[in-house]
Amino acid sequence: MTSFNDNPVPEDGARMEYRDGRYVVPDNPIIPFIEGDGTGRDIWKAARRVFDAAVETAYGGKRRVVWYEVFAGEKAKNKFDTWLPQDTVEAIKYFRIAIKGPLTTPVGGGIRSLNVTLRQVLDLYTCWRPVRYFTGVPAPVKRPELMNVIIFRENTEDVYAGIEWKQGTPEAAKIIEFLEKEMGKKVRPDSGIGIKPMSVTGSKRLIRYAIRYALENGHKSVTMMHKGNIMKFTEGAFRDWGYELAREEFADVVVTEQEVTEKYNGKVPEGKLLLKDRIADSMFQQVLTRPDEYDVMATPNLNGDYISDACSAQVGGLGMAPGANIGDGYGLFEATHGTAPKYADKDVINPSSLMLSGAMMFRFLGWKEAADCIEDGIARTIQQKKVTYDLERLMEGATKVKTSEFAACIISNMQAGKAAAD
Ligand code: NAP
Repeated sequence: MTSFNDNPVPEDGARMEYRDGRYVVPDNPIIPFIEGDGTGRDIWKAARRVFDAAVETAYGGKRRVVWYEVFAGEKAKNKFDTWLPQDTVEAIKYFRIAIKGPLTTPVGGGIRSLNVTLRQVLDLYTCWRPVRYFTGVPAPVKRPELMNVIIFRENTEDVYAGIEWKQGTPEAAKIIEFLEKEMGKKVRPDSGIGIKPMSVTGSKRLIRYAIRYALENGHKSVTMMHKGNIMKFTEGAFRDWGYELAREEFADVVVTEQEVTEKYNGKVPEGKLLLKDRIADSMFQQVLTRPDEYDVMATPNLNGDYISDACSAQVGGLGMAPGANIGDGYGLFEATHGTAPKYADKDVINPSSLMLSGAMMFRFLGWKEAADCIEDGIARTIQQKKVTYDLERLMEGATKVKTSEFAACIISNMQAGKAAAD
């Protein structure tokens, strides 16, 4: 392919490949980016500088990202009179990995959401949300540093595939009648109705992803979060399919809590990964009271939505939380907050969410050293109390810096960190 959206593909970069379940990453990969609307412009500018500096600091010119702009949101609407050009979808499909700033959700019907479209087209079935504490960030709990979890949330089923009928409609009445006549189940006649499907396929591939990730990255446990005591055939089944998967595919490396009690005297054997499950309500208590007992989590769609925001809030970092949507052979990395339009083009907004998503992307592609540089640069800058307005207003003795100045501090800190380590 030579162009998408009439924008020529850069000639100095190469396309990433995906073979036998692995990405083959050239030293000069072309990575499409969507700048994003509103403050997306501010944060993308700052994040791109940090990404380039991190790659340069880590690899001294041996590697380089060739960024390639693709369009969505307001910019696409202005240029092409559509919020999401088909070429943008095709470009992301072609180059496999992309990163995006936040996009305005247009008010009014009939507009395809980029995330929903890409989730469907590329089957991005895993939503990946790591949550960790950065020393110095104001947090509402006493020991925020105990929280360090990686949440894998199912991204295609459960309420995302939910079917609903509004109360009082003929459709709702028909379902209620069907349930009573055909299934022998009584539902109050003035009810709205919702169906949440969860499949063996969708659940197992998500849990498989979490287990593989945990094994490859040296984690100690994977916790399946569910409300299986009430929703036995969806959430309870999610848990059961997870244990079944562990027996079928990971029997030599994974142990369950039951096995640890019955066979191993209460101790997880050296080198084994512990697979456990927790009821959703108890999970919310436990991430507050015993956060250090949780490591990797695998969740159905709705539970994951709730727990990832709760965990992020606990480390004070909802505005700093990174995320990605991953499928087999595709990944879309993104800032998790919105466009915060009132701060657009003012150079004040906190760019950490997008920067940390970029760090996730580099780690995902095997460019671990670049990811470390970004995280180290951000951590040092926050420790020096040089922060954007949102953190400055909550931190005592902090210096308020602009988005661009924050990026400059991160770059000089990552360079100083690398020089000290060499
Ligand atoms: P928002 O853009 O996330 O902003 C809400 C508030 O959160 C801001 O006013 C600001 O609070 C704070 N905030 C958000 N990002 C921040 C950052 N990087 N640094 C510092 N503070 C930050 O939510 P919204 O106003 O509800 O949504 C605006 C637009 O974004 C809507 O069109 C929505 O649909 C869209 N949206 C897009 C995505 C996405 O693309 N993934 C996600 C969510 C929303 P203070 O004013 O208190 O400083």
